[in-house]
Amino acid sequence: MKVLRHSVWFILLASLVPAGFALAAQGSRVLLDGVWTRAQLAGTPSNHVVTRPYSKPADLSPPARLVPVAGQAEVPADLRGVIRRVHVPAGDKVLALTFDLCERASNRTGYRTEIVNFLRGKGVAATFFAGGKWMRSHPEQTMQLMVDPLFELGNHSWTHANMAIVDDAEVARQVLWTQAQYELLREELGKRAAARGLAKDMAAVPESLRLFRLPYGRNAAHTLDLLAAMGLPVIQWDALGEWNDGSGAPEKSVAHALKSVRPGSIILMHANAVPKNTQLVVPLLAAALEKQGYRCVTVSDLLLSGPVETVQDGYFEKPGDNVQYDTLFLGGGTLHPRPAEPKTP
Ligand SMILES: [Zn+2]
Repeated sequence: MKVLRHSVWFILLASLVPAGFALAAQGSRVLLDGVWTRAQLAGTPSNHVVTRPYSKPADLSPPARLVPVAGQAEVPADLRGVIRRVHVPAGDKVLALTFDLCERASNRTGYRTEIVNFLRGKGVAATFFAGGKWMRSHPEQTMQLMVDPLFELGNHSWTHANMAIVDDAEVARQVLWTQAQYELLREELGKRAAARGLAKDMAAVPESLRLFRLPYGRNAAHTLDLLAAMGLPVIQWDALGEWNDGSGAPEKSVAHALKSVRPGSIILMHANAVPKNTQLVVPLLAAALEKQGYRCVTVSDLLLSGPVETVQDGYFEKPGDNVQYDTLFLGGGTLHPRPAEPKTP
């Protein structure tokens, strides 16, 4: 029965897949500057606002398109597994900064403008893994990230589902809805580009998201097969850029990250609600990495630098250190725990 259920999804997914597997981010600075003013790109503190879980009803609505039009060739064998780092040539001190933009059904998580503004100001490349629902609730920022040649966008599921515990149909929905939402926003960007006489620059904007990050770093054994069939290499990390010892001191995060960082590393951070103070960590970490001779590239560029190091099950720093998330968040990982009801006298 289980095998049959998988095969149904593989047939659906196979029908989406065109020939040729492409990586590497592109983007167009001309388009970025043609569509938005500098002030619009810089954003305002209102972009940081995070709604409290359940302050509004959970948003379970699907995107306006359920299945992406564009497909992606199946992931080649050498990019399968949970990718933690890349074996780069000796002496090549490159690494990838990555920022997740997580959003569950039960809240809206905002966008830390300081992080993106710092990276843009310094010309530091980065990869953002965005939830599909986050893209829908942050359309301007999503379009800016997809077109900026410094950055690359990846898929972080629709509402942060825990792929180790949801069924295959939900895995497919979480991934494909996000691919479809990206397309809708790319089409909106295309209209704006055309209105400004910049339609030809759209060729530089990737047609699809080409990388995936597992929410909570969790997967079941066959999750990787499903994602590979959908054309999405699974990108995790081998260094944590945010170290929460309760003090919130950014220097401690930097010191902790530097213990794990080496050439070919992938560093995990967040550019919205979780955890706090990343906007203070990023400038310190970037300076420390520069001092050590590191150069930041997108994940796609890193993948082109050498063979990947993989594991079969994702984790933060030690195998199994993320299993608690299987029970912490409700609704297959897509909902926060409900706050306790106030006691009535
Ligand atoms: Zn996340």
